[in-house]
Formats: sequence, C-alpha cells, structure tokens
Amino acid sequence: MDAKIDWHSEAARLILRNKAFIEGKFVDAASGKTFECISPVDGSVLAHVAACDSEDVDRAVKAARGAFEKGVWADQAPKTRKRVLVKFADLIQKNANELALLETLDMGKPIINARQGDLRAVAECVRWYGEAIDKLYDEIAPTPKSALALITREPLGVVGAVVPWNFPLLMAAWKFAPALAAGNSVVLKPAEQSPLSALRIAEIAAEAGIPPGVFNVVPGFGETAGQALGRHMDVDAITFTGSTEVGKLFLKYSGESNMKVVSLECGGKTPNIVFADTPDLDAAARGTADGIFYNSGQVCDAASRLLVEDKIHDAFLSKVAALAKNYAPADPLDEKTQMGAMVDSTQTKRVMNYIAKGQEEGASLMLGGKQVRQETGGFYIEPTIFDAVDNRMTIACEEIFGPVLSTIRFKTAEDAVKLANDSRYGLEANLWTNDLSKAHRIARALRAGTVTVNTRDGGGIEVPFGGYKQSGFGRDKSLHALHKYTQLKTTYINVG
Ligand code: NAP
Ligand code: MG
Repeated sequence: MDAKIDWHSEAARLILRNKAFIEGKFVDAASGKTFECISPVDGSVLAHVAACDSEDVDRAVKAARGAFEKGVWADQAPKTRKRVLVKFADLIQKNANELALLETLDMGKPIINARQGDLRAVAECVRWYGEAIDKLYDEIAPTPKSALALITREPLGVVGAVVPWNFPLLMAAWKFAPALAAGNSVVLKPAEQSPLSALRIAEIAAEAGIPPGVFNVVPGFGETAGQALGRHMDVDAITFTGSTEVGKLFLKYSGESNMKVVSLECGGKTPNIVFADTPDLDAAARGTADGIFYNSGQVCDAASRLLVEDKIHDAFLSKVAALAKNYAPADPLDEKTQMGAMVDSTQTKRVMNYIAKGQEEGASLMLGGKQVRQETGGFYIEPTIFDAVDNRMTIACEEIFGPVLSTIRFKTAEDAVKLANDSRYGLEANLWTNDLSKAHRIARALRAGTVTVNTRDGGGIEVPFGGYKQSGFGRDKSLHALHKYTQLKTTYINVG
C-alpha cells in the first residue's frame, strides 16, 4: 500500500457512480427513482443511487441473456476469458485504493481492513478463477467399446447474484468471478447499504474487456430488485449470500417461478472451543478477539460463541478482555483504526437490543455494551463481552452480527461438541488444543462447513467455504464453486 495516504482528502475527491450498470452503460432506473446511500462513518448522504425494480431487473436479464445467446463471452475460448479476467484482476489492483475507500465510506469498515484485507482478496479471487478456467478438462465415461460418452460442463446462462453489505465486493467477487470464468452472464444486486463499489467494479470489468451485457449491476432494495431477480423466469440460477431468513425466500421464489438453481451462503453462530491444553493461549485469545471484533463482528463466521474449558475460564477471558481494548471504535479513515462503524442505524439498534436482551436473560455483561461516538453522526458500538451465558439464551442462539461475544463454560470434550452443535447454524467452528487425536475426533464430530484448528484462519480462495444446516448449501471459493455455475451434459455416441 502507498505510504501516508490522507484518506479524508481522497474521499473528498471521489467521483461516485450512482446509476445502474446495464448492457455496458450507466443508466437511471426506469422509474427515475433513487434511494439515499448513507455513510455510517458520519451519517452523511454519499449519493442518491438508482432504485432498480422489476422493470430494470428485466432489462438487465434481457441484456445478460442476449449476450449469452450471442456467445460474445460464453463461446470465447477459455484462454480468452482467462486473459480478460486476469486483466480485470490487474485493474482491480490498480484501482484498489479507490475501491477500498468506497467500501469504508459506504459500510464503515476500517480503511486498513478494506485495503489490505478485502481488496487484496477480491483481486486474488478474480485472478484465481481466470487462471483456473483454461486448466479444467472434461470427462469421458468408461462405456462399452461401442459407445463414446462425453461428460461436459456447460455454463448455466444467466446467473443472478444477490449479496450482503459486510464485505460488499468480496462477497460479490466470490460469485461473479467463478460465474464469469465458466462463461455465464451475471446480474448482480448489491445490498442497499453498500452499492457503490459494485457499480465502480462493473465499469472496471468493462474496461478489462468483459463484453456489454455480460456483467450488469442493479442496485435497489431486496423486496423489489432482489425479489424480481429471484422470481424472474429467465434467470437460470441465483447465488445468494445473506441471512437465513432471506435465503429461504429465494427457495420459495424459485419454486414459484422457473425452478432456477439456488445456492445459499447464510448466517452463522460459530463456536470457538478453547481447551485447557491449548498450546498457545495468547494466540487463542488473539484469535478469539479478532474472531468476534473484526469488521465489528459483522462477519458470517464471526466467532460469536466462546466455549471455554472450565479450568482456564478466568485466565483466558481476562486475556480476551485485555485484547478487546485494541478494538475501541475510531475513525474508519484512520489507518490505525482496528474497529470502525456498524453498517447503519438499523443494525446498530438491532445489536443494542441483543445486548439488552442478554442482560434481561441473566448473562453477565463483562465489558462494553454501549453505543459510542454519537457526536460523529455515525454508528459505533464498543467491543462487548458477555460471561455466564447459557447456550439456550437468545444471544447464544441468534446471529447478532455485531461485536458481541457470548462466553459459555464446558467441562468435557463431549459437552463442548454438544454445545457447539446445538445451533441451527453450521457455517464454521474453531477449536484450540494441543492434542492431535482429540482435534481430529472433534473436527469430525462438528457439524460445520469449515473447522479450524489452532487458528482462526479458514484458508484463502483455494479452499471451499459454505454451510451445513441452516447456514445454507453450495460452496463459494475453490474449484468446487464452479459446480454452482455449470451443468453437466452427457453426450452418448454409438460408434458401432
Ligand atoms: P440480508 O438482509 O439477508 O440481505 C442480503 C441480500 O438479500 C441483500 O442484497 C438484500 O437486499 C437482499 N434481500 C433482502 N430482502 C430480500 C427479499 N425479500 N427478497 C430478495 N432479496 C432480498 O442480509 P444482510 O443483512 O445484508 O447481511 C447479513 C447476513 O449475511 C448475515 O446473516 C450473514 O451471516 C450473512 N452472510 C453470510 C455469508 C456466508 O458466506 N455464509 C457471508 C457474509 C454474510 P437489501 O440490502 O436491499 O435489503
Ligand atoms: Mg452505505
């Protein structure tokens, strides 16, 4: 990253894209309506953004279908798609400061996280799928000699991607990069809270050589634009990241329309299990604090339930509490800031209600719990730790999506597994122990799409990510993600 950027002056110079991106052009919503895009950094209105509804979604789907039928992208050699995607990744890197700033202004995360975390991962994701696509071979089945059976993967056609606001570009890239690599056309609906970076990246995609109609962005509300995409008769697949509640709606939309393929990356309530034999309790404490306070806890796999073995409970919790001080909310545009703003006032109220509920239900508020920095006009909540939580309490069952840790004690490994699995979610689990066979045994018993051992890091683009149970189905990242954007064709030939 460049040295000493004055992010406040950079912000003042930004030109914001505020229209829908359809068929390679920025256009107003057909209705002419807009919505206010608010910065949670200080509550200011950043832009008035086109509020797309079903008419605009239909325009975007028609453009996407037209491009797919013409084969301007789908019929390009994999090598050609690779070249364009690699150039796209280069341009993302070139514009990374601007894109990172858009993320920070639009959803409040610290600039350092946006620039060094999100943007690096976005460029890497696009490059990885670009690089992968000309290295994949299809199959020939083991048939009798009289036949030749080809098993080939074909793109689906038009993919609708509906994403949340917590990692606006990264969640989008996990969808559009493999979908585009496989030859599909994409219609992306960003979250209403964070549309700006998606609009800018669509323009960058066009500059890289993605043909008009292949990558469209329709900003707008879930109930209008999102639903229109989910119910559209000419959308072949919906790839969704967001809450479990809305994920279930997309299953319904599909069933009530054209039976489009649906894949869902939904909520989580990650258990973070710390055993007394953990080799490095300081590392575990750092992982615990980062696991719940990074991005203000607005992370699907936030380590929101700390399951700690009885005999180290006090010592471990005081380590975590000491580290929590590093996450005092501060100006997101300051490079030293570790914790920024909550995404908006609604999410802030929701989290504050959970904090009140935790106290009502008898959990012990050990640290934080207050809204702060109100004088800025923005939305900030202190790192918050609850102790003496019961796994049946609301704060242990529901996804809070804020910087709120619930601590639960356990005595035996069996209890820990039981508590960990006693959740409707199954996105991720973390565990810390020095005992290798215990680690394997427990990892196998945990019902989660990712289990990390002695680290919070669940791996980069090369490993799959997704949920068990009501955390959804289908996987983002890795070559497995390509299954969501392709279908298998069998061509069975009688060769005599
Ligand atoms: P959300 O409310 O479910 O929204 C997600 C997306 O769905 C947004 O684009 C939203 O549009 C749209 N939407 C909302 N209501 C809709 C409706 N009735 N019909 C169609 N679309 C609709 O989730 P969020 O609050 O943005 O994000 C937080 C959630 O995302 C958490 O549950 C978190 O765990 C989950 N998440 C999961 C993963 C993962 O990989 N598993 C990763 C990140 C986040 P609007 O913004 O306009 O409402
Ligand atoms: Mg915003």
